[in-house]
Amino acid sequence: MRSAQANGLRAHAFCRMTLGSGAQIWNRDIDRSANRDVLQLLAEATGASLDELAGGMLTSYEGILFEHHNPGGNTKWILPLGIYHRTRKRYGMQFCPLCLAEDQQPYYRKQWRLGFFTLCDRHSVMMYDRCPQCETPVTFFRVELGCRNRVPGSLITQCHQCGFDLRRTPAYGPSSPDAMSLVALRSLVTFHNLGWWFCRQETLHYAPQYFEVLHHLVTFLATGKGARLLAYIEQETEWKHVDADSLEKIPFEFRPVGQRHGLLLAALWFLAEWPDRFVTACGQAKLSRTAVTRDEHFPWWYEKVLREHLDRSQYVATTEEAASVAAYLARVGEYVSATKVGNMLGAKDKGAASAYKKSQRHGIPSGEELDWVIATLGMAIREKEAVSVRRLLLERDRAIFRFMRITGWPAKRTLGLTVADAVRLAKTVDTKDTLPAAARGVLLNYLRDVRRYLAGENSGNVLFVGQKGGGIGVKNLQLRWRKALNDH
Ligand SMILES: [Zn+2]
Ligand SMILES: [Zn+2]
Repeated sequence: MRSAQANGLRAHAFCRMTLGSGAQIWNRDIDRSANRDVLQLLAEATGASLDELAGGMLTSYEGILFEHHNPGGNTKWILPLGIYHRTRKRYGMQFCPLCLAEDQQPYYRKQWRLGFFTLCDRHSVMMYDRCPQCETPVTFFRVELGCRNRVPGSLITQCHQCGFDLRRTPAYGPSSPDAMSLVALRSLVTFHNLGWWFCRQETLHYAPQYFEVLHHLVTFLATGKGARLLAYIEQETEWKHVDADSLEKIPFEFRPVGQRHGLLLAALWFLAEWPDRFVTACGQAKLSRTAVTRDEHFPWWYEKVLREHLDRSQYVATTEEAASVAAYLARVGEYVSATKVGNMLGAKDKGAASAYKKSQRHGIPSGEELDWVIATLGMAIREKEAVSVRRLLLERDRAIFRFMRITGWPAKRTLGLTVADAVRLAKTVDTKDTLPAAARGVLLNYLRDVRRYLAGENSGNVLFVGQKGGGIGVKNLQLRWRKALNDH
């Protein structure tokens, strides 16, 4: 829109000239769906870089607000426009009247499409999600339709339906149960792009782990059972923003801005004193863990509180949870140990740590378990001096586990490989036996950097050689696995 205006063109003419007449723009949610070809054409026409344009897309929130953006369907936190031909059925384009009024050349911000953006990050006033006069969804490109004689682009702040200038919308301060919860929401709208977040003493290195829980809370609070928690807030603070009875059974992103704001502040009020308020409120409301989670799986920092405080049975971490925490630690580059995994899962009885150790014992390890042991070995290798047998053995182990991780082969099959097999597999490309390139790389690197230093006269043709000549068996590999765990 701004490029069109700067060139003295109407938006439709600008798009026709840059993207061609067949481009599907006005009947799509282009903030979400514009593909690389469209961005490329825009980049060529405007001089903006491809990265800059891609940064204006809602997909740029991947790995920050959510793991994956779903361009065709709904994505958590992204307000849907409800597009029907060229009209908008839903209130997905919010605005801050003060921002629009201050802009020399008014424009609509990317973050105004986010569900938790109920507050302006600059003015701390409530956002609007519709024309205050006629309640029509904001569809700024439609203002130009049917008014050919007006100056192009000058009307982007007008309601296309009734002509009201959205810059003249009254600005209101937000309501909140207490000052802290409002500060929390202000921080969230201002710094939502950091990629990490925190909840009291908990630092979440991967922000989707926070946003997933927040989304769950605002969804749960709008249910019949969640209403009991809203009642608890009212009892404690006398704050009531959303009327629980008036809440329809619709996704959070479909709700009007006022409802979203109330649910967000309720969730943030609980998170501000995490987990005490929540645990007390659930106790009073007689809500068990399963009533809250409905057997869905959530990030460990949230789940551990529910399991520890809301479960009738005592919390014992599952091997799956332990492996998931370990994989998480490895991914963010932290030192992984059984004790640390136990601490993060928060089990009082060391159940988590033993669950973690148990997970290593039997059968084919899961991908996450392998990721963990590979990361642990990597750290152990870095600690060892440059050349030593112990280091070579660790590198051998890592090669074995990497190979298993990439190929999905069980230990027995992997350990049965000969040097001749490895050379053949590493060189086989484009047949049905072809291994993934990463697996071939593991074999070649192992042959070049490890095996030739480890192999002795008795090693024979076996690929993964043991210390005393010959290969290593599955039992031995399990011992090595456990050793890697216990040493770190
Ligand atoms: Zn503003
Ligand atoms: Zn209007």
